[in-house]
Amino acid sequence: MGRIAYVNGRFVPHAAATVHIEDRGYQLADGVYEVWALFGGKLADPEGHFARLERSLGELSIDMPMSRAALTLVLKEAVRRNRVTEGLVYLQVTRGVAPRDHAFPNPSVRPAVVITVSRVDRAQSEARAAKGVGVVTTPENRWGRCDIKTVGLLPNVLAKQKARAVGAVEAWFVDDLGFVTEGASSNAWIVDGDGRLRTRATNANILRGVTRYSLLDVIRENGLEVDERPFTPADALAAKEAFITGAGSLVLPVVSVDGKPVGDGKVGPVAARLRRLYIEQAKASAI
Ligand code: PLP
Repeated sequence: MGRIAYVNGRFVPHAAATVHIEDRGYQLADGVYEVWALFGGKLADPEGHFARLERSLGELSIDMPMSRAALTLVLKEAVRRNRVTEGLVYLQVTRGVAPRDHAFPNPSVRPAVVITVSRVDRAQSEARAAKGVGVVTTPENRWGRCDIKTVGLLPNVLAKQKARAVGAVEAWFVDDLGFVTEGASSNAWIVDGDGRLRTRATNANILRGVTRYSLLDVIRENGLEVDERPFTPADALAAKEAFITGAGSLVLPVVSVDGKPVGDGKVGPVAARLRRLYIEQAKASAI
């Protein structure tokens, strides 16, 4: 059975799924997206992702295309039709289709909705997490509203490619003061020399990662200390451990930055434990 996509109210074969050439997402990156991890066919961290979707849309004055309850049903139906249990669900909502003009269409048009589902090989992900990954650094060059999860991802695309070109998995943006903001598709963390966890606060210009927030709860429930304070790439190299979080990466140990080892260059116990605890939490919270 082939993959199935949802496009504006219809389930269609993935290979035949299309959007209009005047979709404002395609022409102007005028839209937002969300990604849920799937465990056992269920959506992980549902509340956090729905809340952020509503917020991203609200910040752009795009209406929720349907109620949260209806959207949940559609997302779950997309998962069911694709028969995926371990994977990712991608939802994109754009302002809709209208003759090209920078300003919003007036009267407004219906938001356009696309959903795709993809499979993740968990054994492969676990093997990668057990080895750890490399990151590269790159100057922060994004706009001032990285808190909105928009489909305008060109700086992230270029940063990720810079990483890929040298065999790294993620790129960390570094701001003018020399601090890491976040990854191209993840939030960045270290375990400092004193064993304290550190990640940048979300009042900075970064995405409010849902995995980040869930992991903060897990960390506190387990009595670990965390400092929402920025760190530099040099801090990361001097740290005991580093890792990234996201719906795709979950909790993924980082063992090198710009080709230099973090700590002893091996996956550390804290990141490995937090990955396990996060996955347990994600499975328990999934709907
Ligand atoms: N930061 C950026 C720029 C991202 O694109 C993502 C996820 O795609 C994240 C952080 C992690 O967010 P979440 O944990 O909600 O997946």
